[in-house]
Formats: sequence, C-alpha cells, structure tokens
Amino acid sequence: MEDRSFSCHIAQALEAQQRFRASRPPFTPAASLAVEEERLSAVLRSLEERLTDNYPFFHPSYAGQMLKPPHPAATAAYLMAMQINPNNHARDGGPATAALELESVAAIARMFGFETHLGHLTSSGTIANLEALWVARSLHPERSIAFSSNAHYTHGRMCQVLGVKGIVLDSFDRFEEAVRTHDIGTVVVTLGTTSTGELEPLAALLPAARRLGVRVHIDAAYGGFFTLLSQGNAPSVEPSGFSLVRECDSVVVDPHKHALQPYGCGCVLFRDPAVGRFYKHDSPYTYFTTAELHLGEISLECSRAGAAAAALWATLQCFPLERHRGLGPVLQECRDAALSFSALLAGSALLAQYRPPELDIVTYLPRTAPFTATAVTAMTDDIFTTLMNDPADPVYLATLSVPSDAVRKYHPSFVPDAPTTRILRSVLMKPEHAPYVPELFRRVENEVRRRTEQM
Ligand SMILES: *Cc1c(COP(=O)(O)O)cnc(C)c1O
Repeated sequence: MEDRSFSCHIAQALEAQQRFRASRPPFTPAASLAVEEERLSAVLRSLEERLTDNYPFFHPSYAGQMLKPPHPAATAAYLMAMQINPNNHARDGGPATAALELESVAAIARMFGFETHLGHLTSSGTIANLEALWVARSLHPERSIAFSSNAHYTHGRMCQVLGVKGIVLDSFDRFEEAVRTHDIGTVVVTLGTTSTGELEPLAALLPAARRLGVRVHIDAAYGGFFTLLSQGNAPSVEPSGFSLVRECDSVVVDPHKHALQPYGCGCVLFRDPAVGRFYKHDSPYTYFTTAELHLGEISLECSRAGAAAAALWATLQCFPLERHRGLGPVLQECRDAALSFSALLAGSALLAQYRPPELDIVTYLPRTAPFTATAVTAMTDDIFTTLMNDPADPVYLATLSVPSDAVRKYHPSFVPDAPTTRILRSVLMKPEHAPYVPELFRRVENEVRRRTEQM
C-alpha cells in the first residue's frame, strides 16, 4: 500500500471516531487531561528519536528473527477500534469487537478443518499454550505433559506454573514407551518449530496417542497459517501433519506472527466445546447479558484488546484464509524465498545448509577449513556482527545454537569438537524476501569468501 493511501486510511480511522462521538451530546473534556500542543509535539519528536534504536524489521535486509510490522489494513483497523478501547474480556466490554473476534476465530477453525470448536484470541502464543495445557491438566490432573527438546521454551515454564510434570523428549521415536514410563497424559506436537520451522511427526504419533488415551495439543504458533499451503493437489508444504490438526484436541496459532497483525494477537482452539466447563468462575465484576458462553467465560485472561480482534477481522477481509488468494499467496512468497535460498546453498562451495527448510526459515553455516564446531561458531559470530554493522548497507541475520552431532548428521566431514555449534538462521517471513534472496545470499557468501581466502 502506498504511503499516501495509508495516510487516508489513518484519517478515515480518526474521522470514524469523531462521527461516533458526535452521536452523543457534547461535553467538555476535563482540563486536567489537557496537554499543550507544543509539549506533545516535542514528546513525539523525542519518541521518534528513541524509536530509531530498532532494527529495520520492515526491510528485506532484516532477515533475522520473527519480526515484521503489521499490514497497514491491520494498523488502520486497530487505530479505529482502539480509540473506543473495547475490552474483549466480556461481551459487554465491546459487543462489536466480541462478534468480530468470534467470526475471525471461526475462520481460523475452518482453515484447520475443525467441525466444532471453542476458542478465542489471546494476548500471545504463550498464553494460548498455557490455556491449552491448563485444560489438559484439568482433564488429566495426575499425568505429565510431554514435548520435544525443539518445542518452544515456554512449555517447560508453563508446566512449572501449572504444577504439572513436564517431560522433554529428545525424539518421538520411542513415544509409546515414554507414555508408559512417564504416565504422559498430553503430548505437545509443534508444527513449525521456532528455531528451524520443523514440522514434528504428527502423522506418526497420532494413532499411538489415540490408542493410549493421550491428548494431543498442536503448537502451531508460528507455522499454523502454512496450513493454507498444505492444501490442494500441489501442496508446497508437507501436508501430512497439517491435515491431521482437525483430529487433535487443541491448537495454538499466532496471528501476530504470520497473519500480518501487531503484537497482542494469539489464538487457541479446542475441538471439544465442552472444555468450556473448566472456565467457570463467579466474578462479581463481569456482566452477563446473554445466555451463551461469552468470551470472558472461555478465557483465562481478563482484559484483552478488542482492537486486536478488529485488526484481525479487517485483515482477514482483505486477506482471506485461502490458498490461491488472500493470505495463501503471501505465505507462498515466503516459502519460495526459503526454497530459493536453499537451492543457492546446495550449489555453494562457501555455505552449507543445516536443515532443509520445511516452512520459511533457513538455517546455514560457513564451510570453514577446518570444518569444526569451533571454527564454524567463530565465523558465524563474526559474519553476523560484521554484516549488521556494515556502515553502507547493513544486513541483519540471526544465529542459532544447535547440537554439533546434528550438524554431523547432515555433513559427515564436520568435526564436532564442541558440544554445540552456532550457525546462521534467517526467518524469511516477508514476501519481499523472495526477490531479495539473491542479494542476501551474495552478501553472506562474500563474507565467507573474504574470510576463507585469508585462512
Ligand atoms: C512464538 C512461539 C511461541 C510463543 O508465542 P508468543 O506469541 O511469542 O508468546 C510458542 N510456540 C512457538 C512454536 C512459537 O513459534
């Protein structure tokens, strides 16, 4: 969207608020709330200055962590609703945004193929996962919760919060044995791990989990929207896991990661609406005007931005959850960026691939001589810092620590002379990354070339 049209939409959001206010008799704003125009203007100028201390998340040269600005549609819609400041903790905190939330959540449930669901937005993926694990604990109070060593670090922490035993599985290979040994009541399967975008083997686990009465929770905070690319007869991401989410007990997806939203927008869905019974509370503060369970009755959190629901709803109107229009093509460009980066790695004498990308996250390392964990770690750190501090045209990557044995699995000539190796990682989560890949690759390769020529 051009800047000019964006300004028009921001103006539209502000005018909407003026029209809404004009519907009531005028009143005098409190003098105590007044701020001198000059003063606010100066404060905003200094805020602008302070905010320059950020990496350029909006630019394709930022190819580091999972960070990018929201879509202008989300920003304009958020601003429009935020001036009213509805609170989606209860229907009466903002009936309009509560309805927008239910519609948006239903669209996400349809994307996963859920025939029934109970769900809502949350302020983050962490809280959404906490909620799923909390329901899991309510159903299996004595049993443990298992997740892999690649699961998001907050699962272990949330098990502590809940007072549940969390079991870390190094692999899912001997899952049945682990279920018996540790009395596992729930397993967390990550579709799109945070570090590498790995899709954990849901298809292999689900039958055993069902047979053993183990609940299955899907953490698709990062990867969930890639479901769209797993559909149709020419899927561009592996469909075997995504097609089974509909049979699992709960799933988490973060619209603030891959659905163009500002932070403050996670989502949890349960397949069985009857889990709503666990949320029962008797707050004297919330208000009940409908017979149906309202948002405040099915959510662990209390206050939550109604504006987040408005932003998501508006975004989904512009970018429906479809494979060939709307969000699908946006994600496809990110996927294509990862695939072309991976193809360049395959033909490179200077850089090697760590894991083949399953989504849009690429992991790679310099082919140092000697090809050891220590040398790779040192050059990774050096390249990372040098590119970021390039005075003319900085490029931002991320680094990732991986077990050295895992590197050796892909590269038999690699010498694991330290337990872990630091490698490079790029989350190519902006569609603008697709055309930038050749330049990004060239810049990283050049750094390796300069250093290997000096060796
Ligand atoms: C990002 C992420 C989380 C945590 O979500 P937040 O929204 O950052 O709290 C959990 N699981 C996975 C797989 C993630 O990628």
